[in-house]
Formats: sequence, structure tokens, C-alpha cells
Amino acid sequence: GGLLDQIKFKNGKFKLEQTLVKALNNVSIDIKKGETFSVVGESGCGKSTLGRTIMGLYPPNGGEIYYKGERIDNLSPKKMLPYRSKMQMVFQDPYASLNPRKTIKQTLEGPLKYHNPHLSPSEVKDRIEEVMLQVGSDPKWISRMPHEFSGGQRQRISIARALVVDPEFIVADEPISALDVSIQAQILNLLMDAQEQRNLTYLFVAHDLSVVEHISTNVVVMYLGTVCELAETSLLFGEPKHPYTKALLSAIPTLDGRKSERLKLTGEVPTPINLPSGCVFHGRCPYADGRCREEIPALIQHKDGRKIACHAVEEGRI
Ligand code: SF4
Ligand code: MG
Repeated sequence: GGLLDQIKFKNGKFKLEQTLVKALNNVSIDIKKGETFSVVGESGCGKSTLGRTIMGLYPPNGGEIYYKGERIDNLSPKKMLPYRSKMQMVFQDPYASLNPRKTIKQTLEGPLKYHNPHLSPSEVKDRIEEVMLQVGSDPKWISRMPHEFSGGQRQRISIARALVVDPEFIVADEPISALDVSIQAQILNLLMDAQEQRNLTYLFVAHDLSVVEHISTNVVVMYLGTVCELAETSLLFGEPKHPYTKALLSAIPTLDGRKSERLKLTGEVPTPINLPSGCVFHGRCPYADGRCREEIPALIQHKDGRKIACHAVEEGRI
């Protein structure tokens, strides 16, 4: 089985700002140990919601989350505790994700001591030093406050905070997109090195598709809380099948001359409060027909292992 054997959200409903939003609909993903599973789509597609729901920050109303075969979404806070340290999150905005009133030492020490009450003060000190070095920060800086650091340094410290409790699984929600382009690669390399050294599993929420192609084993493409296509990275990028995947991919320049069919999206992403009938993508899809406007396409597994939710693909029209 996988690390996260199964994550299913059936008709997931979440209360967001007093509005009942159907955020995730029949999303079912299976993440294997040691892989980087990426979630892509435009903003508002539910990719952050997926990551946060897995982390227990949002309830998977009607859904189920399994970690190493163990259902975890219905555990008491006490039984959830060991999973809390095994599952960590790195957020997009390094300016908002560190407590401005805590020193770096306090930020790292808090979760470390909480999850490892048996550690001696010198072991705590060693673990913090080790993790600061691993993220490329100077252990001498731990008495400083977050405002003394640049965005890139803050993101290194956020990653240190995630790593210090020795996790197995990390949800990285657009961890480089708020950073200067010049340091994005450094932070990405840091995440990749940490993955290799610690055999980490990543759920990587992203909008930069060239990064996703570079780092992922599997990719799920989402639109309005719905899975459009789920495939191995090389399959998805080599031969995108779902019209929305094609549209996303045709927006990125290719260096290797890969011929991806140009598909331009028209219209805006509709609000998730009033989901379109049938295929949620039909208002922007050049292949939409009457069936698309009425019937929700099922997510169908194909011979090559990928899953696609599209009537036109199923009918062989495209
Ligand atoms: Fe387009 Fe229809 Fe496929 Fe939806 S089901 S992506 S509207 S062709
Ligand atoms: Mg987001």
C-alpha cells in the first residue's frame, strides 16, 4: 500500500466564510511513500484545500483520509498526535507563516519539545543546530526574530520547522511562488535534497508547471474542486488528454520543441458557490456538447494507468 493509501472526498463540503462551498468533489488520490505527488490547476481549483484537508486543517466532510492503512480523519486529538509530527506543512507565504513574536529558537523548539518530551536540553540544541544547517541557515541566527530575515531565509526556517520533528510526509503549498525568482531554485533544491536524505513524501501544490514536470512522480490536475486528469508525470506532460490539462500545458513554453496542441481557454473560472451543471469545465471547453452540459463525466482509469474525467475522451471524439 501507499503512504497515504487512499484519500477520498465524496461531495466534500467546507464552510468557508459562512458560505457552504462544495470544495472537493469525488477526489480520490493515492500517494506512494517517497514520491512527489503534485496538484496543479488555476487558483480556486481546490488544490490548497486538498492539501489542507489532508493535514486536518479542514474537515473532509463526507470524505476519508488513510495514512499507512490507518484512517486518520476521525481520530481524537490524542490519537492524532503521532500523525501530527509525521505530517507537516510548508506554506506559501514565508512572511505570514512564522510567528513574528517568537525567536527562531522558540519557533523550532516548540514543536520539537512538544512531540519529543523525552529529549534533553542538549539533544534539543543538537537537533535544532542540525536542522538549521540542513536548510542552509546559520545556527547562530536562532536568537533572531523573523523580521530580521529575507523571504528566502524565512522559507528556509519554515522548512526547518517542518523538518525538526522528523516528518515522513510534507504538504508543500506553493512553497516557492511567493519568493524572488532568483532564490526559487535554491529553495526547491533544498526541498529535493531533504526529500532524498530523509526519504520524505511530498504533496506539492503548485502552479508552475515546468517545476512540477521537473520534480513530480505523479500529477493530479484539478478544476473547481474536481479531478480532471491524474497521471504519471511523463504521461501527463508527454501526452495531455483532458482538454483542461491541454490548455494548462499549452500555456507553458517548451524548450525541447515538444508539440503540445495549442488550446486557449476562454472565459473565467466560475465561482465554486454555483458549480456549473455537468462537466464543471464545460463553459470554457471547446469540445463541450449537450452531454457535457448535463452529465458529470466519471473519472475513468485507462490502460496506461492514468485517470481522466471527460466525455469527449471517453467517446473517442478527441
Ligand atoms: Fe470538455 Fe465535455 Fe470533456 Fe468536460 S467532458 S472537458 S466539457 S469535452
Ligand atoms: Mg492556494
